[in-house]
Amino acid sequence: MKFAPNIITSFIDFPGHICSTIFMIGCNLSCVYCHNRELIASSDKPGLDEFDILNELIPRKGIFPAVNITGGEPTLQSGLVDFVLKLKLYGFAVKIDTNGYNPETIKELLDHKCLDYIAMDIKSGLDATHHPHLGDHYSSVNRVKDIRQSAYLISHSGIPYEFRTTVFPDVTPISEIRKICKDILQISESSQSEKKVKYCLQKGNEVPMTKKLGFLPPDEAFMKQAEAVFKEYPQLIDVVVR
Ligand code: SF4
Repeated sequence: MKFAPNIITSFIDFPGHICSTIFMIGCNLSCVYCHNRELIASSDKPGLDEFDILNELIPRKGIFPAVNITGGEPTLQSGLVDFVLKLKLYGFAVKIDTNGYNPETIKELLDHKCLDYIAMDIKSGLDATHHPHLGDHYSSVNRVKDIRQSAYLISHSGIPYEFRTTVFPDVTPISEIRKICKDILQISESSQSEKKVKYCLQKGNEVPMTKKLGFLPPDEAFMKQAEAVFKEYPQLIDVVVR
């Protein structure tokens, strides 16, 4: 387990909580809009181990009794489930952010009932389309199957969750947002939950890579078009644009 040395206090990462956000090093994707690009490659990075990070978190617990685990991709790290169980033993509320690539680990976490919230990225429609701006692994043959499986597990888990998409028109055009809405609807529809599915569109912000590629963040006109798409799915998708 390898963590980035910085811990941030966040008022927005974990709905209903002020939390400590911790970052795990290493990701299997390479999204052009990634804000944590320095965390993607893991082998040559120094970082904190589990002992160090617990020593940082535990003294904060009185003021910040919630932890958001993000990355990088947390589910790539062996030991994640044990680490989350330890946080629960110390009394923390725990959320993870995931790109959905590892349904086995997500299932293990859900089976242990050790998460209080889970946020999963759905970066494109769940079909076999090649997406060059999300990294080589994104187009692997098992991608669709694994992400669908993770989304199914999460939407049927009974714990609070959200699906979300970071929007850059060159990566996620309106046609792709429509596909995502359909996929979320289809995957979640057999859920016993009475609640609507929470789906968040996050406006992408410029980072060095998008600047280099000439990709612009979505403007107001684009977001209005996206909102018009959501109106086609009012029955199940409770959309939050942020
Ligand atoms: S999945 Fe998340 S952490 Fe990984 S490259 Fe994409 S945005 Fe960055």
